[in-house]
Order: sequence, then C-alpha cells, then structure tokens
Amino acid sequence: MYDTRIEVVDNFKFLGLTFDKKMTWKTHLKNLKQSCLSRSRILKILSKKAWAADRKMLIRIYKSLIRSKLDYGCPVYNSASSNSLQILNPVQNLCLRLATGAFRSSPVVSLEAETGEPNLDIRRKILSSNYIAKTLSIENHPNIMRTLNPLYVRKYENSNMKPTIGIQKKNLENNIPFNDTLVKTVPKEPWLLKQPKCDLSLSSYKKENVPAQLFQNEFKIKLTENFQSHIKIYTDGSKNEQAVGCALTIPEKNIVKRFGLNKNASIFHAELFALLQSLLTIKELGACNALIITDSLSCLQAIMNMFHENPLVKRVQEELSSIESFVEFLWCPSHVGIAGNEVADEEAKQALNIDVNHHELFLDEIKTIIKKKYLEEWNTKWVNISPNENKLRKIKNSVYPWKTSNRKSRLDEVCLMRMRVGHSKITHSHLFRREDRPLCDKCQEPMTIEHILIYCRNMRFRSPSFPSTSISDILKDNEESIKEALQFLKRNNYLKNL
Ligand SMILES: [Zn+2]
Repeated sequence: MYDTRIEVVDNFKFLGLTFDKKMTWKTHLKNLKQSCLSRSRILKILSKKAWAADRKMLIRIYKSLIRSKLDYGCPVYNSASSNSLQILNPVQNLCLRLATGAFRSSPVVSLEAETGEPNLDIRRKILSSNYIAKTLSIENHPNIMRTLNPLYVRKYENSNMKPTIGIQKKNLENNIPFNDTLVKTVPKEPWLLKQPKCDLSLSSYKKENVPAQLFQNEFKIKLTENFQSHIKIYTDGSKNEQAVGCALTIPEKNIVKRFGLNKNASIFHAELFALLQSLLTIKELGACNALIITDSLSCLQAIMNMFHENPLVKRVQEELSSIESFVEFLWCPSHVGIAGNEVADEEAKQALNIDVNHHELFLDEIKTIIKKKYLEEWNTKWVNISPNENKLRKIKNSVYPWKTSNRKSRLDEVCLMRMRVGHSKITHSHLFRREDRPLCDKCQEPMTIEHILIYCRNMRFRSPSFPSTSISDILKDNEESIKEALQFLKRNNYLKNL
C-alpha cells in the first residue's frame, strides 16, 4: 500500500483487542488473563485474614480495576470457544477468594453465591445482550443491519459453533423485548430549545416536618398569585407488580386522559410520559397559558437539564420548544390533600387496568430486564444443587447477597464466610498437607463446622439461647444469631483457627 509492503503477521492488536489468524482469540485471552492476574496483586496486598480493607471495598476494587478489563470488548471476544474462554475463570475466582478471605479449598459456586457475583459466562451473556439493546437504541446505527441481522441461521443450528450476535438476538427475543427499545433520534440543536420554566419552591419544605394544611395553603396562594390565568393540568404515574400507567386531568375542562405503559417501565418513565401527553393536549386545546402540576421532582429536574441523554426527556424538551403557548411547570408534594393531585393519583391508578398503548422502554429498563433474566437463571441452577452436595446450599436458598455478610471486623467477616461455605483451616488444611481428615480430640468425630457449632462436647459457653441443632438456623441471614455464633467461637478461642 502506497509503495510499502504490508507485513503478514499472526496477531494484530486493534483498539485493545488482539486478533489472531483464525479468530480463535486465544492470544487475546492469554494476554488478558496475564494482565488481570498482575492487577490482582493489589487485592493480595490489601487482604489479610486479620487485617484488611473490608470485603465490600475489596469487591469494589476488583470490579473497577480487574473486571472492567474483562468486560472490555467482551461482546466481540465472546465468539471464542467455551474452552478458550474458561482460562479467564481463575481470575474472578482468585479475586473473590481474596476479597472474602474464603479458604483455598472453597468451591467456586459457593464463592459466587455468597458474594452475589455471577460467573464470567453469565457476565458475558449479560454484556452481549446489553450491547444488542444499546445498538438498537440508536437510530440508524450501522450495526443494526450488519451485526444484528441473523444471517446463516441454518448453518449455526446444525453445528456446535457459537451463534453470532444476530442469532443470539433472535434466540433471546421471546424473553427480552429488544424491539421495544425507545430509539434515540438525532437531537435538535440545544440553542433552538427553550429552557423549561419549573417552580420547585415547595420542595424546600420537608414533608415530614410540615403539616398538610400548610402545603395546601401555600399551594393555593401560589395558584392565585402567580398562575391565575393558566389552564391547570395535573399529572401522575402509577406502578404495581403487573402494570404501569399514568394519567392527566384538567378539572376546569373536565378532561381526563389515561395511558397504559409497558409493565417493565419505571415510575419515572410513567411520570415523564404524562408530561409529554400534557404538552400534546395543550397543543390540541390551543391554550395560551398553561401550568403543568406534577409530584415528580426527578422528572422536572431531568427536563431542566438541557444535556440529559434520555430520549423521552429530549422529546419533552423539543415538544415544549415547538409549542406556541406559554407553559410552566409546578412541583407539588403528593398525598397532602391537594385536590387536583389526589384526582390525578386516582386516575393513574385506574390507568393500571387499561390496555397497554405505549410499549416503548428506555435502554436502562431493557438492561434491568436482561440482568434479572440471567440472575434468575443462575438462581434456579443454585436452587437445584442438592444441600448434601454443597455446604453453603444447606444455609442459603438464593444467590442474592446477604446483608449480614458484611461485618465491621475483618476477622469476623472472614470467619463467618468460612463457616457458611464450610471450608476452613481447621477442617480442610489437611488436603494441602496430604494428611488424613482431622478428628476432634475429645469426641473423636470428624472435624466439621457443624461439629464445632452444634455437637462438640469440647466447647464451653454454649448459651441457652443457642440450642439450635440446624446449621442453617445458626448461620442464616439474621444479625442476632450471627452475633451469637461469632461470640461463641471467640469465647472458645476458635476464631483464629478457622
Ligand atoms: Zn468435638
């Protein structure tokens, strides 16, 4: 090219990803593992059994310094074979073990279920799905035609090959509403947009310190003094387990409009949609002055930010700028007896029962569905493990993290983790010395966490409120029983031996 010979190479690094001749990603994965392992040294330094940063902080360090590196380019290198991808697993396992202080022999599935961190395979699936949603959320993204198009479906159906991103999308469509993603269009130039006029003054009072009557009076004074000639529109959104809806009411014109939204939409989405519909209604009515009253502070703050990324916020701002009427917004507190707001609230609840007429979802809402779906799949797998196979499974019925796992003292935190996982120095270090299983000196029973906590006669200070014979009762997510178990070990000088 340009009179220079292009060299033929086996690997080529482009935008941080090493491409190899046969696109196996083996070189990339090897380099990635190496660089992650060298970064994990910081965790090793910060995590000792008796002294260390706390586990929450260590996991945060892992996520920001190491996992972010694994995440980079993940939808691309995910086309590598499962065998090749496996070489990355030890990175996360090592980091979780260091962060929690778990014993070396602890099973990986227990580490993941105790910390609530899914394995890298699930992580890659989540990120690949997020990538699909993100691409679809941008209007005319060139990859919609190229990458998301499910080509060669038949070829992939009959082979062990990893499906392309297009085929992955096709396979996921039943579970994830990708096509409902609200598309980001090219925004209008910001200097052409009108800055919304929002009155948030009532939010300076704290709702719990101020009587409802005072709010009602203040609100009334505001309306008569500042907005006498305005048409008043009250809006509200509502959400329950099955449905999402919003409504607007204009009492002086006897207008009520209800809207049914996608059941996965957030309450913010519903409130914002009501604002947009209010603007469209003002246009229809041709009113010259209008006041839109809402109890959603976050919505008003969002539309006041002219650089907000959300496509619906942009839509509201653009609609507001194209309207000839003079529109203002007013925030009022909810449930303090302001009549118009109470009616809008009731109408929004009614809207939960009508048919959905607005299916679109924000990118963030789709991402939440994606994450939930994969975590549920993982949870089902965990629940299906027999309690006899895994010691932690006996105690923990789900993969979602427990509050009691984070303790103030590092020693307590590590010992609790080791007790729950059932692997500790005293019960499992013989594996590394190739010795026989240790027995309790007094009872001659095999040494297990269960034996120490429940059966051993060697232990003193067994409190009367600690009579439980089930390990799951002692180590479950309950602050009182955990405190008692740790106290019991401390008094028997067992904490340091675990
Ligand atoms: Zn014993």
